[in-house]
Amino acid sequence: MSEIPFHVPYLTGDEDAYIAQVMAKGRFGGNGDFTKRAQRILEGDSGRRVLLTTSCTAALELAAMALDCGPGDEVIVPSYTFVSTASAFLRTGAKIVFAEVDRNTLMVGVEQLARCLTPATKAVVVVHYAGVIADVAGISNWCAAEGLTLVEDAAQAYGSSVDDVVAGTTGAFGTLSFHETKNIHCGLGGALYLTADRFDRVENMWERGTNRAKMFRGLVDKYSWVEPGSSFYPTELQAAFLTAQLEGAAENLRVRAALTAAYDERLADLEAQQRLTQQPREASLSWNHHAIVCVFPSFDVTERVRLGLKAADIHAYIGYVPLHSSPMGARLGYAADDLPVTEDVARRVLRLPLHHAMTVDDVHRVCDHIAALTEAS
Ligand SMILES: *Cc1c(COP(=O)(O)O)cnc(C)c1O
Repeated sequence: MSEIPFHVPYLTGDEDAYIAQVMAKGRFGGNGDFTKRAQRILEGDSGRRVLLTTSCTAALELAAMALDCGPGDEVIVPSYTFVSTASAFLRTGAKIVFAEVDRNTLMVGVEQLARCLTPATKAVVVVHYAGVIADVAGISNWCAAEGLTLVEDAAQAYGSSVDDVVAGTTGAFGTLSFHETKNIHCGLGGALYLTADRFDRVENMWERGTNRAKMFRGLVDKYSWVEPGSSFYPTELQAAFLTAQLEGAAENLRVRAALTAAYDERLADLEAQQRLTQQPREASLSWNHHAIVCVFPSFDVTERVRLGLKAADIHAYIGYVPLHSSPMGARLGYAADDLPVTEDVARRVLRLPLHHAMTVDDVHRVCDHIAALTEAS
């Protein structure tokens, strides 16, 4: 039996031709034709202004800079997430306050956030885990009532929406990742969604703190240093690759949808027998099929399944190691049992292989093994 890798980076076949156009033109440095083209596609999809970035991490750092976060501010983030969700705000000098997740959705809700609120809270970062969208409507209302800014880490959620509201476009800022492990990618890349009223200032930060982009648009004669900033945007080579991927995203989604439908059918049986649970998905969710996340009844069963699959050359990955119980979390003063729900569920998560190079037969093979490995439990 052949190997089933956890992930295979997507390729549309158009990347080479677009990169060749950049080579022929001889302009590589970024914020050129392909950057603008990719931004226009993302703006058309979302109704927000968009700035391409070198990564989702960079987009989160740009959001933190735009919020003027710093010492004395507190930012609430889930502990169950990737490090960048927290580190982008930590490095400004702000204090990170880790929130629990809901044990079913594996995401934060108003209840978990409200427990972390203090007079110093400035912003809240939510994560749309596996492309499933958190309760952004409820959280956004709560943030407005408390005077907080909402940032959405939509790294995994490009292509997801609820009632036509695109993931990452409810809060003041939303961030996307185009790392090769995401549905579509440009090796390393990202983007920031932002509201039109914030665009001028944040664009300057994105342009190393200068108003150079305004000079190109003829709005100023020469450019100057006007804000704090950094070098946030990718090269035209990456933007060309990404443009091909954005144009091929619908095909990628079609393949993933067929695979997740096959998974759903098989995993529903195992759920009915209480051998595992999946993240609930609301009927209103138009999902990007980013990841199949299973939660098993115990850590022992999770490890048995993971190692059993590995022995069959099928590669499943664990979930996040909670940030509050990481070495850095300990330095920030947290102990593992501070967030018991996160600590418990994180040990029982397994993510199953899902990518365009898989077949429905592969899905059945994965599920046959999981059924056999969970039989005695
Ligand atoms: C992938 C990911 C990131 C980091 O994205 P990069 O583009 O690699 O910086 C951040 N947050 C979440 C939730 C992610 O899944």
